[in-house]
Amino acid sequence: MSDGHDHSHLSDTELRVRALESLLTDKGLVDPAALDAIVDRYENKVGPRNGAKVVARAWVDPEFKKFLLEDGTAAIGSLGYLGSQGADMVVLENTDKVHNVTVCTLCSCYPWPVLGLPPAWYKSFPYRARLVKEPREVLQEFGLELDDDVEVRVWDSTAELRYLVLPARPAGTDNMSEEELADIVTRNSMIGTETVASPAGGA
Ligand code: FE
Repeated sequence: MSDGHDHSHLSDTELRVRALESLLTDKGLVDPAALDAIVDRYENKVGPRNGAKVVARAWVDPEFKKFLLEDGTAAIGSLGYLGSQGADMVVLENTDKVHNVTVCTLCSCYPWPVLGLPPAWYKSFPYRARLVKEPREVLQEFGLELDDDVEVRVWDSTAELRYLVLPARPAGTDNMSEEELADIVTRNSMIGTETVASPAGGA
């Protein structure tokens, strides 16, 4: 495609996967619930843990954070999390004044090596259509209330360039180790639809 945003392979792949899933289910070879469990595992557990490790490293290591914001691809690559659907990465820092959130307005481009598989809502038409037009309203629906003086920046992913949001480190985490910090980083905080909450009992 002339805009460099190639979607055709995705719909073809999705069609083929759907055809295979229907066939295997009809023949009793796979259980749809088991498939859902596998997808859930990659959406929510395995995939985003890589991104969470990138975030935690940036929170504890200022030199790495600088590297990550200047050259996301090289910094993420130094931890071993580059690959197909995430070969060229830009990292966006959320601060008191700027809140970044990512979308693919045309399909579902998403940084697989750091976040795993995209959740269904990320691929949905309402999210893709509305985030650019009314980001504050969409974020409110995710439970994220931003102060009026916070600038919201929406980033449209493409086949060539994928984004990872670096959420703000929450208060009350000064004594946490890098591993403990990685455990509190959520997938949605790295998409930008939520922030990372202070741990229970923290400040
Ligand atoms: Fe796309």
